[in-house]
Amino acid sequence: MKAILIVCDGMGDRPSKSLNNKTPLAFANTPNLDKLSELGINGIMDPIKPGVPPGSDTSHLSIFGYDPYKYYTGRGGFEALGIGMDLKQGEIALRGNFATVNEDLIVLDRRAGRYVPEAKEFDALIDNYVPKCANDVKIITEPSVEHRISIKIVGPNLSPYVSDVDPEDCIKIHQCHPLNNSPEAKRTAEIINEFTYFTNKVLKESPINEKRKKENRLPVNIVILRGAGTIPNVESIEKRFDIRASYIAGGALYKGVAHAVGMHPINVPGATGGIDTDVMAKGKTALDNLEKNDFIFLHVKGTDSASHDGSAENKIMMIEKIDKMVGLILDNVNLKETLICLTADHTTPFEVVRDHTGDPVPLVICAENVLTDNVKSYSELTCAKGGLGRIRGVNLIHIIMDLIGKTKKFGA
Ligand code: ZN
Ligand code: ZN
Repeated sequence: MKAILIVCDGMGDRPSKSLNNKTPLAFANTPNLDKLSELGINGIMDPIKPGVPPGSDTSHLSIFGYDPYKYYTGRGGFEALGIGMDLKQGEIALRGNFATVNEDLIVLDRRAGRYVPEAKEFDALIDNYVPKCANDVKIITEPSVEHRISIKIVGPNLSPYVSDVDPEDCIKIHQCHPLNNSPEAKRTAEIINEFTYFTNKVLKESPINEKRKKENRLPVNIVILRGAGTIPNVESIEKRFDIRASYIAGGALYKGVAHAVGMHPINVPGATGGIDTDVMAKGKTALDNLEKNDFIFLHVKGTDSASHDGSAENKIMMIEKIDKMVGLILDNVNLKETLICLTADHTTPFEVVRDHTGDPVPLVICAENVLTDNVKSYSELTCAKGGLGRIRGVNLIHIIMDLIGKTKKFGA
């Protein structure tokens, strides 16, 4: 058997006043998700553990079967992998923004207006920097989308245990500090501080900013870094279960986590990672690639973005788009041969919190060999009455692999 795991980012929610005390999932029109629930076994899942609001990175690690308390090594590594940087053990990656600061290094806009079409030209000015405080080290930079950039620090005796430069607010940039007493963390913090001042010096003098000024755009005059991390040292999911595993995702972070655990990328034109993403194209691509794979992870980000923006309308629209994609998949697979699992990586209540919370998320596993329960619709509340009960994220992959015949007996 084969499996498709669909993770709808931040899809879980809480009852909302504007939706008659329903959640967006309960409110939306979802005939195909309901069909999954009716044909499958349902439950709820604590992505990390009860009451812990997950980051998308820690949650996905957990859902892929890697305990994040043991394997999480910071967001920067996943972002770098996700934009196609090659990251090796021992190298430190950070994500950053092209930003605008004033003369006193007070942040005026931490995204420099979000529109940085000259990112490649700015990047060329700061790439391959060798710090004066550590001339055995090199800093490699790679622009991502909009104002985003990833960097990696290559060299001996480095540590990811350093604080953020980005203050995430319009205040003075932070100094990077070591987060433990090791000489490696102290050295890494010095390198990052020197690099930060270097980017400020070089970028503010760039003639590209003259052009931006003429067009009434903010100058790009610094790179502010955060989220130092490394690549996690894990056994690949393919080795672990003796499978071929691939991923379909738009956002860099999700690509990065899937890549870090050893899955192969499947590119989908139109998969943007935003609410404009072509969800049907993702579903169709998953179907087209099922033959070559045992396991396909399919990620949809828009539900989380809509929640952070506080938009019920967009969240419901995304859920209904996902529903249509599930309809396409259901119409084209035989549940004797293919398992479909659909869940969320965390709850992101759109109405009040607008950020991740520690609630459990709904979960359905649909295949011919599961014990069907009495749940007939897919929502936070209905799934809680299902036959799977309440599980932890880190258990999910094992349950899926067992159902598709990819686990080995423990004992004799
Ligand atoms: Zn998420
Ligand atoms: Zn989020």
